[in-house]
Amino acid sequence: MMMLKSAPRRGRARSAQRLELPVVDPHRAVSRRLPHITPIEKRGQFLRPSPMADLLEDDILSVNHVSGCAMQCTFCYARGYPGFAGDAELQLYINAADGIRRELRERRGPPRAVYLCPSTDPFPPFSEIQAETVRIIDVLAEFKVESWLMTRGHVRPGALQRLRRHRDLIQITFALTTLDRNLRRVLEPLAAPTRLRLRQLRELRDLGFAVQASIEPLIRGLTDTHDNLAPLLDELAKAGINRVSTAYLYVRPGIQQNLERELEPLGLAKPILEPYQQGPILPMGRIAAARHLPRAERQRGYARLMALAAERGIAVNVCGLTNPDFSQPRAALPQPSRPLRQLDFGY
Ligand code: SF4
Repeated sequence: MMMLKSAPRRGRARSAQRLELPVVDPHRAVSRRLPHITPIEKRGQFLRPSPMADLLEDDILSVNHVSGCAMQCTFCYARGYPGFAGDAELQLYINAADGIRRELRERRGPPRAVYLCPSTDPFPPFSEIQAETVRIIDVLAEFKVESWLMTRGHVRPGALQRLRRHRDLIQITFALTTLDRNLRRVLEPLAAPTRLRLRQLRELRDLGFAVQASIEPLIRGLTDTHDNLAPLLDELAKAGINRVSTAYLYVRPGIQQNLERELEPLGLAKPILEPYQQGPILPMGRIAAARHLPRAERQRGYARLMALAAERGIAVNVCGLTNPDFSQPRAALPQPSRPLRQLDFGY
């Protein structure tokens, strides 16, 4: 069962309290199944302002071409939305690419970039979803609009082959939590295995794509510990990554309910959520306010990650959107000049 353990280590930045993950008993863990996909034609607008718009000076839009997400991450903010329809079914908007083409034609000028996707993963284990992702990127490329992608998935060979044509207009960020298979199955049950994501990160970089990495969310005692971060950073350094973005988990009522339902059988919900009771509720620009870990605790966690990353030649960007109580000089934010930039997608 879960225990809180101090894990002080000589010569290291002070470690986080580490939560012991029990061996996951499939009878105690919430079972996950791949969802059923329903193709539908969506009415209304596809391109929306990006939640990052307040942080960036550029014209950045976003699109979700799927309602729901196949990955079912325990910590996901989208699964915690009040109107979330559940994990059993995804709705795939099969007219998304055509709708985006129409909307781009109607605009005065194209946006700089479109972010795929704030509330779903563009590369889940479904060929039909990956194919629609590619069709959207094809359309964006017609208008010379950059595609900014974030995934916990694996781009299938057929999709990758088609994306290569547009690699100068694509920036792809791989989000990671852990190399520990047991922990990954708890936190990101239907995401691609971490080593597969790392392998693809290297492959895409070698093919000339702009590739980045993000370690998120940091979860106190689970993913923010030395034992979790050091091997992950080692692998990222080996893959040639010299900058990562990061953000701590934040909590809203829906996220909390999911964490309690899915982590309580493992004895993890209470120790993860309790420290948030002392934390602030912070507004986050265009997205709903949420409860955060106390500022000092986040600061210590980010400092530990930065120290570990620096030992490996990796710089760390803390997400400004999800840490609005940290002052970030504007100049430290991504600048609107090419080449493609390190982005903080954690919201
Ligand atoms: S991949 Fe992203 S959108 Fe999908 S469940 Fe995980 S965190 Fe949510």
